[in-house]
Amino acid sequence: MADFEQWTQETRPGAGDDFYRMNGAGEMLVYSAADFEDFLEPRPDMAPVMENELKAVIRHLAEKRWPFRLHATYDETITRALNVYEEVNREVPFEGLHWFFDHCETISDRNIERIRALDGGIAVQDRMAFQGEYFVNRYGEQQAQRTPPIRRMLELGVPVGAGTDATRVSSYNPFVALYWLITGKTVGGMALYPENNRLDRQEALRLYTVGSSWFSSEEEKKGSIAPGQLADLAVLSADFFFDSGRRDQTDRIGTDDCRWPYCFRRRRI
Ligand SMILES: [Zn+2]
Repeated sequence: MADFEQWTQETRPGAGDDFYRMNGAGEMLVYSAADFEDFLEPRPDMAPVMENELKAVIRHLAEKRWPFRLHATYDETITRALNVYEEVNREVPFEGLHWFFDHCETISDRNIERIRALDGGIAVQDRMAFQGEYFVNRYGEQQAQRTPPIRRMLELGVPVGAGTDATRVSSYNPFVALYWLITGKTVGGMALYPENNRLDRQEALRLYTVGSSWFSSEEEKKGSIAPGQLADLAVLSADFFFDSGRRDQTDRIGTDDCRWPYCFRRRRI
């Protein structure tokens, strides 16, 4: 708590420049709320002290108008965090603060609705592309079909952004995450999701660009090809939108078809 009191005195959201910018607090707001996502291990139960510790920090951030994000893998952790958020919101209204959860692999529809009611968002990453096999071994194929339930999040009207969780889980190469969103497969080739929880190429790219700009409150600046928006120029080795209809080629989106570009520049369009 002392750290947050100091940080909120030292800086503010939006400080910095277009390249390096302060967006808010997270994703580990308090250690007692961190549910480590190792699917080789059983789900960890958070200590009873979680609620009190988290409430003090969230209340402080809401008072200071700092956007915040919280790492949360399991629905059980999300339920407890939302109990805290709803309580704080009654005392210090979030009022359009762009707060969000990271990950949410096993989130329920009920908790997606609670996030929507507090105007929050969900940032998803390709962690299941690496751990899908472990998850299926422990919880079964049926459970894995909505890990995370991205299509449901979109249907219920929650802002969704896509990413990689770099650099802890994998590299920041966006094509592995795009491959996972589109094919619904792990990097090992295991099919995790039914058709209705996969995205087409346009939808996946949208989450990765415009979708993610909501999370740093930069919808006016990033994510679209439009006058006044920032742009990163990437030189790719193949057309991302070209679908040959061949399964083996679709599967190569994340591997060797589109290599990570070797240079980029940021300019205003
Ligand atoms: Zn995390």
